[in-house]
Amino acid sequence: MPHKVIAGNWKMNGAQTALSEIAAISLVAGSLTCKTILCPPTTLTHLAVGMVDSIGIGGQNCHHELEGPHTGDISAEMIAEAGAQYVIVGHSERRENHGETDALVQAKAKAALRAGLMPIICIGETLSQREDGQAISVVSTQFIMSVPTQANIIIAYEPVWAIGTGVLPSLAQITKMHDVIRALLIKTYGKQGESVPILYGGSVKPNNAQGIFGVANVNGALVGGASLKASDFIPIMQALSDS
Ligand code: PEP
Repeated sequence: MPHKVIAGNWKMNGAQTALSEIAAISLVAGSLTCKTILCPPTTLTHLAVGMVDSIGIGGQNCHHELEGPHTGDISAEMIAEAGAQYVIVGHSERRENHGETDALVQAKAKAALRAGLMPIICIGETLSQREDGQAISVVSTQFIMSVPTQANIIIAYEPVWAIGTGVLPSLAQITKMHDVIRALLIKTYGKQGESVPILYGGSVKPNNAQGIFGVANVNGALVGGASLKASDFIPIMQALSDS
């Protein structure tokens, strides 16, 4: 069975005043049956690492190269040196706002592994792709083209139309896609594919988490907005731990 994982993506939110939220989340995380990961902005990575012991800290993106003339970028090695253990790659906001392709996402996932980080690889269809009946083929292609050869990864299925919108896919839609991804994981990695966590992401809130975590092959969630406040995130962590 995969480990249960709850991951918070703070995106471009959070100054040092937000470190108290991380402390509150960490206090609860140690007593739960799931792994908790927080991905604050890079400016907080080192500070966050120094103040938690029961949660993992991750970056939100990395460059695929080790070093070089890439102004404003950060390598996986730098994120690891700051004490993080995870990094999100291929988030739809990066794919859309920065033109990141599947090939680049795969290179970033490989860079993460090279640096000793576990990549959280995001895949998911847009609304028009779903309406055109392309959701499964789009997500399958993203998966095949974005994953590295090693199974030391976490997959996050995030339908783009559910991110930050308050719109949730039906449980049947989540079930179908997570089953497809599990089959792809097993096809790609054999037995190891059975234990790769598949997270659902997109408008997960305290009031809908329990239903989502009841779905087979949902092994946790990648949470955006509701991870910024401990009072929102902790009930979601607890729902996963109890599932
Ligand atoms: C995300 O950005 O990964 C995400 C899931 O955001 P939200 O939970 O706010 O929809």
